[in-house]
Parts: sequence; structure tokens; C-alpha cells
Amino acid sequence: MRKLEGKIALITGGNSGIGLATAKQFVAEGAYVYITGRRQAELDAAVEAIGKNVTAVQSDVSNLADLDRLFAIIKQEQGHLDIIFANAGGGEIAPLGAITEEHFDKTFNINVKGLLFTVQKALPLLPEGASIILNASTASIKGTPAFSVYSATKAAVRSFARNWTLDLRERKIRVNAISPGVVPTPGYDLLGLNDQQLQEFVDTQASVIPLGRVGKPDEIAKAVVFLASADSSFVNGIELFVDGGMAQI
Ligand code: NAD
Repeated sequence: MRKLEGKIALITGGNSGIGLATAKQFVAEGAYVYITGRRQAELDAAVEAIGKNVTAVQSDVSNLADLDRLFAIIKQEQGHLDIIFANAGGGEIAPLGAITEEHFDKTFNINVKGLLFTVQKALPLLPEGASIILNASTASIKGTPAFSVYSATKAAVRSFARNWTLDLRERKIRVNAISPGVVPTPGYDLLGLNDQQLQEFVDTQASVIPLGRVGKPDEIAKAVVFLASADSSFVNGIELFVDGGMAQI
């Protein structure tokens, strides 16, 4: 028996990186998956890569009208939603002193506002026992130079998981955060590094990770499958670090 047989899942930002890897594993475990992203060409490529049991909906998580349209489609096509992986997000470098209003608004609008309203607008579709997984980051509890706004958004995401377990207790809906460590993905383009600088960054990070290496999107996806499935039926409100031990030392 596959772990997500017959389940309907939504993965925001499912056309790239961790979201795409998770979409592939969800489908392999028997789920039907809706993925979102802002660019149709990348969504089309992701649908092809996933291969079956997937629908892409072009939708910006920070745009509430887009979210309404997304959930209207899922309601019409499926009537309910068993799993949400609120994954869309990202961050750019800006040291204190150079943080602009635009940088703050963009980062919070996607990572915090977008994630909050993704979950809130999905609530009418969620049955008892649904599972919500919020993509946070080790940045939720660690300091990183020039990354404070991103880190603050991820601390907010972690806090949502704690609080929403209480708001959803009557409906027996589980909410957990997952916190990846260093996992090179297309999202790293936002850091503005050239190939050599990126490799140096990865090597430096690997040297301070107890497992001695960075992670792969598939390794995060496996942990998301765990939190989405009945294997984690008594796991609620946690922050699951999938980081080779980096945030624990
Ligand atoms: P990625 O850039 O490959 O994927 C990000 C996805 O989010 C893309 O599909 C992108 O289209 C989507 N997205 C961005 N803004 C959006 C918006 N406004 N509306 C809809 N979709 C939007 O990067 P990734 O590394 O796979 O990141 C996925 C999540 O994992 C992010 O929340 C990120 O903060 C988190 N994370 C990543 C790492 C890492 O090392 N890769 C570590 C910790 C946390």
C-alpha cells in the first residue's frame, strides 16, 4: 500500500526545487497533486517531469485573487483537499543598513502573507485528519549574515505551525513545519552568486554540517511525505529539521 493512495495534495511553488521533488514523490506514493507557480512555461515543464496525476495552476501566493481562483478549481475538480505543502518562498541578501521597504514587503508577502492565506483559504476544503506542512528553514532559529528578513519570515512560519494546531484542534487537522538546511536548488539564484561563489558557499556550509555535506531536494521530499502521511499520525506542531544536523550544534 502506497503512503498517500487516493489523497489530493496541493504544493505551492511545486515547479522547482524542493516543491518539484516533493510533487514527484507524492505522485509516486499514490496522490493526485496540484502544483502552483508564477510562470506557465516552468509549470508546463514540471507537469511533464512529474508525468501523471498532476494539474498545474498558474498562481502567485501573494495575490489573494489568484488563491481564490486556485481553490475554486480544486473545489470544482476534487471537492476536497487532504494535504497542503505550503512551500512557495525564497529570500534575497540584504544586510541591516541596506534593507529596503521593497525587500521587506516582497519577502514577507510571499513567505508569510502568501503562506497564511494559502492555508486559510484552503480550510473549507480540508476534511478531518488533513495534514498541513509549512516549509520553514533552519534560518527560523539560526543567524545568517545579511539574511535577517528571510530568517524573520521563517520564524513566523514556524510560529504559525505551533498556533494553528490549536485553531484546528476540533477538526483534527495536523500542522507541522519542516526546516530544510542547505539544499542547493534554483532558489539559490536569488543569492546573486556566480558558479564559483556558489560552489565556495556550498563547500563552506558542508564543512560545518555534521554529516559533512549539503542536502538534496529528494531528502526533504521524503520527510514531507512522512509528515503528509499516516506514518506521522501523532506528530503535530513540530519543526522537523532536515539539515544533516546543522541547526542542532
Ligand atoms: P526554488 O526557487 O527552486 O523553489 C521555489 C518555488 O516557489 C518555485 O516553484 C517558485 O516558482 C515558487 N514561488 C516563489 N514565489 C512565489 C509566489 N509568489 N507565488 C507562487 N510561487 C512562488 O527554491 P527551493 O529551494 O526549492 O525553495 C522552496 C522552499 O524551501 C522555500 O520556501 C524556501 O524558503 C525553503 N527552503 C529552502 C532551502 C534550501 O536550501 N533550498 C532551505 C530552507 C528552506
